[in-house]
Amino acid sequence: MEVVDELADMPTLEEIERHPMDELLRTERLPHIWCPGCGLGTALSCFVSALMRSGLDLNKVAIVSGIGCTGRVAGYLRLDGFHTTHGRAIPFATGLKLANPDLKVVVFSGDGDLVAIGGNHLIHAARRNMDMTVICVNNFNYGMTGGQVGPTTPTEARTSTSPRGNLEHPFNIPNLVSAAGATYVARWTVLHARRLERSIYKALLKPGFSVVEIISPCPTLYVRFNRKRLEGGDALKYYQEHSVIRHDAKPWEVDIELGGEIICGEFVDIERPTFQNRLQEMYGELRPCEDLGLLHRPSAEVATSFEVEIELREEKPVAAPTRVKPLAVGGAGRVEVRLGGFGGQGIILSGKIVGKAAALYDGREVTLTQSYGPESRGGACSTALIISDEAIPYPHVTRPAVMALMSQEAYTTYHSQLTEGGLLLIDADLVEPDPSADQHVVPIPATRIAEQELGRRIVANIVMLGALTALSDVVSEEAMRKSILESVPKGTEELNMKAFQRGYEYAKRMLAGESA
Ligand code: SF4
Repeated sequence: MEVVDELADMPTLEEIERHPMDELLRTERLPHIWCPGCGLGTALSCFVSALMRSGLDLNKVAIVSGIGCTGRVAGYLRLDGFHTTHGRAIPFATGLKLANPDLKVVVFSGDGDLVAIGGNHLIHAARRNMDMTVICVNNFNYGMTGGQVGPTTPTEARTSTSPRGNLEHPFNIPNLVSAAGATYVARWTVLHARRLERSIYKALLKPGFSVVEIISPCPTLYVRFNRKRLEGGDALKYYQEHSVIRHDAKPWEVDIELGGEIICGEFVDIERPTFQNRLQEMYGELRPCEDLGLLHRPSAEVATSFEVEIELREEKPVAAPTRVKPLAVGGAGRVEVRLGGFGGQGIILSGKIVGKAAALYDGREVTLTQSYGPESRGGACSTALIISDEAIPYPHVTRPAVMALMSQEAYTTYHSQLTEGGLLLIDADLVEPDPSADQHVVPIPATRIAEQELGRRIVANIVMLGALTALSDVVSEEAMRKSILESVPKGTEELNMKAFQRGYEYAKRMLAGESA
């Protein structure tokens, strides 16, 4: 009986086989993609170990990575994770922290991602003292994309794009982030696993912007290209012989030179109010996502429709214009088009629909540029296209022959650009044209039709596209129909096709001199 009890206390085979770190790893994603000899596995192990010791609530830890070999880390960890776009890990992390201050947010990414394309985000987050920990694995090159030279590549080091040696001076990461305001800055190589783990542990618990740089070998590329200068390419042996620990080193003294020493240690450990501290001081105990208007999250409904308060003018009979005719535009089949309105009216989407119709279905050359203010709703926004039968060397639109303007602000800003004899469509209820402007103005009650006939103001832009298609030869009707079907959200195709048809018919009747 006793024997049975003892057996009951023994771990099962499955428990014995489980690695202590399994809890934090998405083992279903393993094996990992990293090359043999790469330092990333050690960097990840040190992080997992430090995180497990930290006592942080793992349900409140989010990990954010950018692009690159190191960027895979977020996907391998059983945490809330975000594998984001190149260089944008810190902005994503900043958003997470602002929306949910209770989270511990960690950015784990490579030198190419954080210091090159994301370099501005790095220094500005340090300046703000955003409360987050950044683990930056520095292997001195862009590993994932073939070993190109990067901003941390030491001078004279060879890479795939600097075969004779790098000409430039590299960033010294501890110096960069400490000068910008980071509160904790340390550097270790992957050889210093225990010290590295302790530093990550401290960084995780440190309020403010903490940064740990991990010098890690990329044997497949950087080490191979620089084998001679790295004494045979045994990276760990090299680290052992060339690294020195100097906690008292000033950050500006820890530059890394090819073949030179690698100074490691904890260089900065200071206190300074975090961005969140200041936010609370200014706004009290606010939850930014709930109470700070600027940062509030729009509801799904608002995010997909434009419910900006606009007042339709009293309905008035729209006189049939006398000068409307199908427009033969541009020399060599070239035409410039501008669509304008306020944010939320779907102006940018309209531009994409026209562009796609012309390029994919009419087989023409197209450029598309966009311009909008900082407001996501309201304000003025515009999208401009050049459509041509020949290559377009420069995409800037200066003299559109066709315009559709759906807000007074857009009209005021852009109407004078119209070429002589060009076609200007306006939303009849939202734009009061300048009577002194001698222009070919065609009022289309797009918003009224969308709201009163189709029941959804959101499709006013598509009504306008219907009218534009009927009144000009910018794009073919068939191409527009295909493009709309491809571009609008699933489930709204029927509504949008009705809107297009209504706008198209309205304009055709105007052309025929009938009552619309
Ligand atoms: Fe590591 Fe370099 Fe391979 Fe990327 S390319 S996994 S950094 S060794």
